[in-house]
Amino acid sequence: MQDLEFRQFIERVKLRSPIEVTIGERVSSLRQRGALYWACCPFHQERTPSFAVDPRRATWRCYGACGEGGDVLSFVERFDGLSFLDALRLLARQCGEELPERSLSGQAKGAEAALELRFELLRWAADLYRKAWRGPEGTAGRAYLQRRGLGEATIEAFGIGWASEGGHALVDAAQREQKPLELLAEAGLVRRNDAGRTYDFFRGRVLIPIRDRLGRVVGFGGRLLASDGEAVQGPKYVNTPETPLFHKGSLIFGLDLAASAIRSTHQLLVVEGYTDVMAAHQAGWKNAVAVLGTSTTDEHAALIRRTGARSVVLVFDGDEAGRKASHRALAGLLKLPIELRVAVLPEGRDPGDLLVEPAGSATFRASVEGASEWFDWCLAGLADKRGSELANAVEERFQLLAQLARPLERSSRLAELARFLALPEVDVRAQWDAFERARRPAARPA
Ligand SMILES: [Zn+2]
Repeated sequence: MQDLEFRQFIERVKLRSPIEVTIGERVSSLRQRGALYWACCPFHQERTPSFAVDPRRATWRCYGACGEGGDVLSFVERFDGLSFLDALRLLARQCGEELPERSLSGQAKGAEAALELRFELLRWAADLYRKAWRGPEGTAGRAYLQRRGLGEATIEAFGIGWASEGGHALVDAAQREQKPLELLAEAGLVRRNDAGRTYDFFRGRVLIPIRDRLGRVVGFGGRLLASDGEAVQGPKYVNTPETPLFHKGSLIFGLDLAASAIRSTHQLLVVEGYTDVMAAHQAGWKNAVAVLGTSTTDEHAALIRRTGARSVVLVFDGDEAGRKASHRALAGLLKLPIELRVAVLPEGRDPGDLLVEPAGSATFRASVEGASEWFDWCLAGLADKRGSELANAVEERFQLLAQLARPLERSSRLAELARFLALPEVDVRAQWDAFERARRPAARPA
């Protein structure tokens, strides 16, 4: 019976996920010709389309080198690099169906079942924090987010919670409800002291659930509240430590909520912090996300590529730290075949505070719409520099040029740089060569 139910669920999700739409969101060159849709195959290199989608039969097939085909689920599995269950979960989420996780445990075996157990536990913890947020002890947290201009609907959408100050609310609840403490410890939510006593990792913090692109909680960001006139004890933000499910290098905050807006606008906004993402979504920029960690990794880039975004706009704080953050984010994204832009906010402003004031929204929009092409942004930062300061700043840009895969693209940027500086191109290229040699000492001829 459970099997039948599960099969019916799969059919329902497939029926509600038109294959030409799902594939069209991922393969932008898909065009209708007669009864079929055609594109160059996304799974092999080709110049003439041999990849066909048949909406009536809900199938796809590559008539070229791959010679393979399947249904909408097998396509998402392959294109998005997901397991069958995760592909099902993703499509189900998009058409508003909830995967029957309980009946799933019968389907899931071995590693998959172990993983399900961990996700289930994190969901349980997030619910517990959520309840505390709504209760009397959540008062300070609620007041804080209200001051930041974030409304109830936004807080609900992001599932904000509260970790109580006592340091044992989670442990107590786990013992009461017989949840495995060792798995909570593995998830980074419970610690054990030298005497062997367990305690909560997060205490007295606003908790922001960090979810993967399928909307599953994998960790939390905890924001400490500063009491009036009291020095803050400990760092302002603490994340879940790295765990089997929580790798900062492969997580993008807000991606689960932003996915459909990115697919319809083909644009993705990268902002810096959790509250920036929340403020952006609240103000209607539902395509905003934040990359976790201090740099943008290849995994982040791969996730962004899979969103179907054709353009990425980096919107960081209008100060030196924001400029540095833009630079680091760019470095990881330059390999992507997408348009990259940088929006510069007014000095000292960040998306989080701009977007919650009526006039600020217009300023934000103007910054995004007037965002510079990434290299123009790099050049603009050189305008007021001279001498050794200029040489240093140019080398900082070289770090970005070094990310470009194609030599011609780099060469054209070097020529642009020389023109912008009104300096001889041979000098720019000589400095580039020196930079390259220093960067790759091993490649130097003996
Ligand atoms: Zn193919």
